[in-house]
Amino acid sequence: MTKKKRYQRYSAPNRDVILHSCTRTIAREHKGEIKMAIEGGCLCGRVRYEITGRLFDADHCHCSMCRRQHGAAFATYAEFNPDDFKWISGEDLVKVYETLPDAGWCFCSECGSSLAGTVKGKITTITLGTVEGDPGIKPESHSFVGSKAQWHEINDDLPQFDERPPDTWGQPSKAL
Ligand SMILES: [Zn+2]
Ligand SMILES: [Zn+2]
Repeated sequence: MTKKKRYQRYSAPNRDVILHSCTRTIAREHKGEIKMAIEGGCLCGRVRYEITGRLFDADHCHCSMCRRQHGAAFATYAEFNPDDFKWISGEDLVKVYETLPDAGWCFCSECGSSLAGTVKGKITTITLGTVEGDPGIKPESHSFVGSKAQWHEINDDLPQFDERPPDTWGQPSKAL
């Protein structure tokens, strides 16, 4: 009897299914080859995106701007080919905040979720925390460690860089 009650308590109500519709990595036939589509979105669910290519150069950024923008110890991004990215809903709610001449952050103006990074007006990085399911990549480095939060300790063995890691944009280092 007790076991049954517990099971019922933890069975997902519908709203959880909607909020956590995870594992949406979808295999698609594209020009004769299988392409993976990565999906993700914001906390309120209004803004959603799709990336029809793979991610590369995932990095934890500890710079003071990313820390403030996320309200967290660091922010985690992965890069992709900008041509592979599109908003699939809520694009009108996406705001871009730029502090640097060429770079900014995209966030949902409804719920505040930080979704993506821009360079020269193009969306070039996604926040890994907003990707649903397995993004097929794991962080490979820590950047801007020279300005990391004093209260945060890095406890993994990934390479650390005081500022940017070496630029490998456009040269995906690890084939799927
Ligand atoms: Zn939102
Ligand atoms: Zn940063």
